[in-house]
Amino acid sequence: MRCLVGGVGKPRLEQLGCYLQLTLNPERVCSKKVGHTLYFKNYVMNKPHLLSRYCFLLDIDNKKVFYHALLFHHVVARGEDYSLRGNTIFIDERTPLFEELKQNKLIIEAKEEDDEPLALSRAKIQEPYISTAYFFVTQNCNLACKYCFERQSETENSHKGVMTCETMEAGVDFFGKLARLDMSRFNEKKTVIFYGGEPFHNKKTLYFGIDKVHSAMKEGLLPENTKIIIVTNGTLLNDSDIQRLKSYDVTLTFSLDGDEISSKNRVYPDMHTPSWAQATQSYVKCREAGINLNVACTLSPETIARQAETLSYFIHTIKADNLGFNVILDNDILHVDKNYDDSAAAFVTSSYHVLERHNITENRTRRRIQVFDKKHPCLFDCNATGGRQIAIAPDGSVGICHEHVMDKKHFVSTIYDDFDPAKSEKYREWKNRSPLYMDDCQSCVAIGICGGGCVINTERKYQTIWKADVRFCKQTLAILTMLLKKAIQK
Ligand code: SF4
Ligand code: SF4
Repeated sequence: MRCLVGGVGKPRLEQLGCYLQLTLNPERVCSKKVGHTLYFKNYVMNKPHLLSRYCFLLDIDNKKVFYHALLFHHVVARGEDYSLRGNTIFIDERTPLFEELKQNKLIIEAKEEDDEPLALSRAKIQEPYISTAYFFVTQNCNLACKYCFERQSETENSHKGVMTCETMEAGVDFFGKLARLDMSRFNEKKTVIFYGGEPFHNKKTLYFGIDKVHSAMKEGLLPENTKIIIVTNGTLLNDSDIQRLKSYDVTLTFSLDGDEISSKNRVYPDMHTPSWAQATQSYVKCREAGINLNVACTLSPETIARQAETLSYFIHTIKADNLGFNVILDNDILHVDKNYDDSAAAFVTSSYHVLERHNITENRTRRRIQVFDKKHPCLFDCNATGGRQIAIAPDGSVGICHEHVMDKKHFVSTIYDDFDPAKSEKYREWKNRSPLYMDDCQSCVAIGICGGGCVINTERKYQTIWKADVRFCKQTLAILTMLLKKAIQK
C-alpha cells in the first residue's frame, strides 16, 4: 500500500483528486460525552460521495472505527488505508476501506439515502396501545427511603391513598378493555405491575388484584400469559405470604441497593433504623421457595462507592439472577455531586462484566445488547413513551406515568371513563417521544441503541419532555462504547 499522505517525491492525494477528507471536530457534542474523537466536515473530490450523517469516526482502543449510528454497522480502518495529517484524515477511494464504507452506507451518494433508515425506524412506532398497567395498591409505605420522591411515610398514612378491592376490580376490567381495543394486538406481551408505596402494606387489595388478573386471563379478557410483577421493599412479607405467592405465577422485584452500608438510605420512618436485614432475609426465603425474582438497585452514591461489596452482595449473598440498575432521578430530596452521572455510567458498564461471569443479567444493558446484536433501533426506554402504559391511582384516576401519582400530572382519565389512548392528545405526544424524533438526538452516536431515557427526569430538569436527559445519555454512551469495544475485539 502506498503512502496516502504527501511526502518527498510522492504525489499528494489532494493532487490526485480522489480521496475522502474528514476534518476532526472535537466540538461535536457527543464526542465530549463519549470521550472519543469525532469529526465532521467531509467531501470527496470528483465523485458525488458524502459521508452519512449517521457516520461517526471513533477512536476505540487506538483503532479508528467508523460506526453507523442507526444501522449499527462498524468498519475498523486499517492503518494502510487511511492517513492522518493534523486534524484531517484522508482515505483513498481506491482502497478496500473506501469500498467497505460504501457497502455499509457510511459513505452515500445522495443526502436522501440517509432518510431511508430513519424513515424505516420511525415506521416501527405504532399507534398508542396499552400493554402495561401500574396499579397503585397503596400510596403508603412502611419505610421512608431517603431518596424516595414520593416519601409517603413522612405524611400520616391515610385511607385516601389506599386502593379498595372495588377500584382494583374496575381497574383490571379497564385494563382488559384497553387490551381489547385492538384485537390484532391483544396477544402482544401484557404486564400488570402492583406498585406503591409498598404493595404489601395493603395485602387485601393486592391478593384480590392477583386473583382478579388470573380470572381475567382465564376468561380471555386479558392474554393468558399476562405477566404479574410486584415491586416491593421486601420488609412486610411473612412466611405465609411466601407460601401464597409460590402458588401464583408472579415475579417479585425487590428494591435492594447492595450490602448493608450501601443500603443506608433504605430506612424506617425514624430515619435511622435500617431495613436491609429484613429485606435480605425475605429475598433469600423467596428464592429458596422458587419464586421468580428480580432486583431493582438504585445507584445511590453509597452503592457506587462500594461497588465491590455491592456486587459481592448480589452475587454471593442473595445469588441474584436478574437485576436492574436505576440512576437517582433529579429531585429536591437527595442531591448528588457533579461527578454522579459519570460514576453511575462507569459503575453500570464495569459491573456488567463482573455480573456476566456469574450469569447475572443487568436489564438495561441486556436490552441494549439485544438492540445492538439484532441491529434493530431501540425506539423507547420505557412503556410510558410510545403511549403504551397506564398508571392507576388508588382513587381510580389514570395517567401515563406512575411517577406523578401524587400530583396527578399527566393523568388524563379515570377507570370509569371510555378511554382510548389513540385519541388522547397526551398519549399521541408521548407516542413519538423517541430519540428518532428528538432534535437533541439527531447528531448523537447512540441514537440507535438509546430509547431516550426517562421522560419525567427530563421534564423535571428542562420543563419539556423533548430534551435529552444527560444522566441517561452518559449511561447509554458508556454502554455503546463497551459494545463497540467487544465487537472490535471479535
Ligand atoms: S417516564 Fe421515567 S418514571 Fe415514567 S415510566 Fe418512563 S422511565 Fe419510568
Ligand atoms: S437521549 Fe440518547 S440518543 Fe439522545 S442525546 Fe442522549 S444518548 Fe443520545
